[in-house]
Amino acid sequence: MSALHYDLCVIGGGINGAGIARDAAGRGLSVVLVEADDLASATSSASTKLIHGGLRYLEMYEFKMVREALKERSSLHRSAAHLIKPQEFILPHDQTQRPLWMIRLGLFLYDFLAGKKTLPSSKLVDLKTAENQLLKSEFEKGFSYFDCWADDTRLVVSNITDAASRGARILTRMKCKSLVCEDGSWRVGLKDQVRDEDIEIKANMVVNTTGPWARSFLEDIGFTENDPNIPNMRLVKGSHLIFPKLYEGGQAYILQQPDKRIVFVIPYEQDYTLIGTTEEAYEGNPRECRISKEEGSYLCKAHNRFFEKQLKPDDAIFSYSGVRPLFDDGASDARCVTRGYRIYHHERYHNPFLTVFGGKLTTYRSLSEHVMDKLMILTGRNNPAWTRQKPLVGGDFISKGQAPDAAYEAFRAAQGEKYTFLPPELLERYCRAYGTRMGYILKEAKSLDDLGVHYGDHVYEAEIQYLRYYEWAQSVEDIIWRRSKLGIHISDETIAALQQCFS
Ligand SMILES: Cc1cc2nc3c(=O)[nH]c(=O)nc-3n(C[C@H](O)[C@H](O)[C@H](O)COP(=O)(O)OP(=O)(O)OC[C@H]3O[C@@H](n4cnc5c(N)ncnc54)[C@H](O)[C@@H]3O)c2cc1C
Repeated sequence: MSALHYDLCVIGGGINGAGIARDAAGRGLSVVLVEADDLASATSSASTKLIHGGLRYLEMYEFKMVREALKERSSLHRSAAHLIKPQEFILPHDQTQRPLWMIRLGLFLYDFLAGKKTLPSSKLVDLKTAENQLLKSEFEKGFSYFDCWADDTRLVVSNITDAASRGARILTRMKCKSLVCEDGSWRVGLKDQVRDEDIEIKANMVVNTTGPWARSFLEDIGFTENDPNIPNMRLVKGSHLIFPKLYEGGQAYILQQPDKRIVFVIPYEQDYTLIGTTEEAYEGNPRECRISKEEGSYLCKAHNRFFEKQLKPDDAIFSYSGVRPLFDDGASDARCVTRGYRIYHHERYHNPFLTVFGGKLTTYRSLSEHVMDKLMILTGRNNPAWTRQKPLVGGDFISKGQAPDAAYEAFRAAQGEKYTFLPPELLERYCRAYGTRMGYILKEAKSLDDLGVHYGDHVYEAEIQYLRYYEWAQSVEDIIWRRSKLGIHISDETIAALQQCFS
């Protein structure tokens, strides 16, 4: 590859890098995004997957952050109603917690901060109803409120696909090893991890969105030595356990723990229940973090305190862990470290270079907009912000004034009429994962046979081809864990058949 020259190089293909690449490409910049591994291979595939204001941050008086996140919840829901859906939460109450009136007030504030109503308001609920019978008998009353749930990895991939459709170049398995500001541009040294080759590109501006590596990356390339103002990070591990479905019904639970933390119990992938998360200070390589014995016991205990059914960590069939890249605001307790973000400008260099510290899945779009606004100011351009109102790739089935869920239902019904041969679960899976992009897979297909080789469990060649050619999938792992969650559902035989596509 020759030394190509771009307006902007984004380092890191998690949610923040993806959002920035999309925003920048839409503002007319030539963009390259480099990702050391696969897209969303680090923190952005290990979240609790909530697009939420964060009820508990109200206790920490983070009103501004909660307000921003709630505003984002509403605009993201509109922009990708196939990936993001409303989720009801039940908050069981007992005498050991704050009084009912105080929680009611907190939820009232949460509803108020959300502004224009797009989700049902919170309310007091009787927990003696049939669907809540699984709770212990001492929980008689509680609250119901709504947030949104999102497929985190698909959100990353959709942003990247959107960026690419606007001209961005996406290089995965490409690690950034060096950065040198010289002769009015950045020389970006890359290592192709597959071919084991060194490559150099040039860019006028660089943004470091390496998440939990943000600080260590700066240390590795020698940028921290002369700048004592570069913020520190707190790396906080969080783990989840996945159990075979623990109850019927679509409601999730938010469980207040005696240590003041909260643990969520959430319906997951139709047949499963997700329980998370924990907060444990972390040192070491973020890619190697795994759930500890203590975390597993903590999550089961948190669940067992509220539910009749008693769980053990061994009952879980999967687990996953990730590292929160938190901006270090000096809080002593990991629970209290801000989930807000900082955009740091490395002012010593002639060409703009920004590093993103912290953030949340929920606020990636506004974070990206702030990064791009800052770059516009630094370079004297005025290409305007545009992402708030614009659907993401695949989410363009919504029309002005239409409610997101009604738009999704109408879209799915229309696809069902068009592709009558699709079994209902496959129709739902394609509609949810790809939105209008499912047309790239199905094209003019009139039967399942038109989708090519059947690898098993309704995984067809047409989908795999799409993921390889349009979504940068390079391995079975990429496909079954990040482009989809098929890994949970499909048999070993199907996985083995898929392996042959990549051998
Ligand atoms: C347990 C847990 C639960 C969470 N739950 C929620 C939630 O429910 N809702 C919410 O809003 N937020 C949640 N979050 C927070 C959210 O997941 C993170 O803020 C977000 O995913 C961080 O994204 P990122 O792009 O900054 O980092 P990452 O997703 O980690 O992306 C950084 C990328 O940079 C790449 N990289 C690193 N070094 C290099 C290099 N030298 N060259 C090229 N690429 C490189 C990595 O491979 C990685 O893909 C949660 C986080 C955790 C850990």
